[in-house]
Amino acid sequence: MSAAMSAVIETEEQSALRAAVAALGRRHGVAHDRDALWAEAGKLGYLGVNLPEEYGGGGSGMAELSIVLEELGAAGCPLLMMVVSPAICGTVIARFGTEEQRARWLPGLADGSRTMAFGITEPDAGSNSHRITTTARRDGGDWVLTGRKVFISGVDLADATLIVGRTEDARTGRLKPCLFVVPRDAEGFGRRAIPMELDAHEKQFELTLDEVRLPADALVGDEDAGLLQLFAGLNPERIMTAAFALGMGRYAIGRAVGYAKERQVWKAPIGSHQAIAHPLAQAHIELELAALMMRKAAHLYDTGDDLGAGEAANMAKYAAAEACVRAVDQAVHTLGGNGLTCEFGLARLITAARVARIAPVSREMILNFVSHQSLGLPKSY
Ligand SMILES: Cc1cc2nc3c(=O)[nH]c(=O)nc-3n(C[C@H](O)[C@H](O)[C@H](O)COP(=O)(O)OP(=O)(O)OC[C@H]3O[C@@H](n4cnc5c(N)ncnc54)[C@H](O)[C@@H]3O)c2cc1C
Repeated sequence: MSAAMSAVIETEEQSALRAAVAALGRRHGVAHDRDALWAEAGKLGYLGVNLPEEYGGGGSGMAELSIVLEELGAAGCPLLMMVVSPAICGTVIARFGTEEQRARWLPGLADGSRTMAFGITEPDAGSNSHRITTTARRDGGDWVLTGRKVFISGVDLADATLIVGRTEDARTGRLKPCLFVVPRDAEGFGRRAIPMELDAHEKQFELTLDEVRLPADALVGDEDAGLLQLFAGLNPERIMTAAFALGMGRYAIGRAVGYAKERQVWKAPIGSHQAIAHPLAQAHIELELAALMMRKAAHLYDTGDDLGAGEAANMAKYAAAEACVRAVDQAVHTLGGNGLTCEFGLARLITAARVARIAPVSREMILNFVSHQSLGLPKSY
């Protein structure tokens, strides 16, 4: 199979991985202990499938890692931390970390025994990450970090958080983005869980970095190549958010289709009414189309085209989030009153589905990106 074809039609290895992860997801199911699933998926090599083999990973790429998250989601048990730990942090460390940083972090990230959260969002910067103000200054051989972050997922579960800060350019005084590994219990690193209307295993935190002192090797990558390194991690984040949304959408449609085949209130199952069947068919088509774009983005990324992957990853995230929100809405509606019961557990997906529309980059910011970058339209801001 040509490389271009394998981007849209899976290889035998990828199909086998999909089937194996789907079986693991079915065994665990919706209500199962997510920590146990994380541990088992890690042991089986699924969490680190994208990381280099010499550090215990599977030596594959984002195509494979997105298959793992999509299939767990389709079984009703997505692992949100996959978006940040192996996909963003693992990628950045594998591509830009020192030999010592790779040896220290990658084997644990690959087998799931260690996790790393990722913190870029700030209360005053929001979608405009150019405005982040978390600042690192040098003090002798150390770095000292000060700032605030918000909505950072899984900080309590993670061994460390990869914090996006800035350093001041000694010559120009301009701020440059830089990445630092901050251990969970570092002095001055405070966290407060944000009460969210989300029924999820992973919590979101507001973080305070109050003169957090870090050794020189907490800096990942080159102090002068900040943006490039950051984008190397953000494209996988968008691809994985697409996978998260696709899995959830498929799960919701699967539950609704099952219900629509059984439920009968007149002479025929409700699924025979086109007002029920067509929206489900439409949601299925939209999920399939978004999956195709996700595979394109993963293929471009895995073949080293960071620029091409940027556009495709944004489009895939947009398409998957929109398809997921519509799929969940239709699934809940298909179940009538049961769509809102705890027993069927679908209504909780209404807020969960919207996460992919907001994070890691909102629908509007993707439309801005496509307007400016793809279509060359002028900017309003
Ligand atoms: C469940 C969850 C988990 C998260 N996990 C993490 C994490 O682990 N790490 C992390 O760093 N962040 C995380 N985030 C943060 C997330 O990435 C941000 O919420 C997101 O980037 C949007 O930023 P904001 O919330 O500040 O919204 P704002 O930037 O305040 O935007 C508010 C609204 O205004 C719109 N808007 C803003 N500017 C424009 C414009 N120029 N044109 C048009 N519309 C505009 C936006 O689209 C949005 O609809 C998480 C968020 C959630 C909800």
